[in-house]
Amino acid sequence: MATYDGEAAPIGTAHIGDLAHRFAKEVYDTSTNCLMAHSIRAVQEFLIKHQKGRHWISIEMSQSKKYLGKRAIAVIRPNDTDILVADGIGLENQRRGIAHELGHLLFVKFGRSSSYSRLGSKGDPMEESACEVFEKDLCKKHHNFYSTDENRRLLLFPSLNEYPIVL
Ligand SMILES: [Zn+2]
Repeated sequence: MATYDGEAAPIGTAHIGDLAHRFAKEVYDTSTNCLMAHSIRAVQEFLIKHQKGRHWISIEMSQSKKYLGKRAIAVIRPNDTDILVADGIGLENQRRGIAHELGHLLFVKFGRSSSYSRLGSKGDPMEESACEVFEKDLCKKHHNFYSTDENRRLLLFPSLNEYPIVL
């Protein structure tokens, strides 16, 4: 079985079997940077389910000083949203900030927000507190899910031990 040792042939010339290992490693390593990826996918599915159409959501890191003390800010457009996340505020704050902005996106898409793009606006206090509720509820549900061994087992792949993949 081929293994990826970190220094290998350029992608264009490497054996495709070696690339499979390399891509898997790099995608896995990169996945730790994909903040709230599952919730983002879930919001997209939720919008489709409620006939709000396909909506692209991107996450970008940006320097903290651009945020006037905020953790994250969403630029919400009809078909896509950019969530800009402050770097250097810690992983948990980044994830909670993203959850909060996903709340704004949902309120916009369901016609319960006054403004589309919230960049630079102070925001309606009612909507802000609703987004805080959404953020806390969603993050608490996640936290509770990952707090039990039984649920964490749902994320494992026991079948990988039964049938080794041979290239
Ligand atoms: Zn907010």
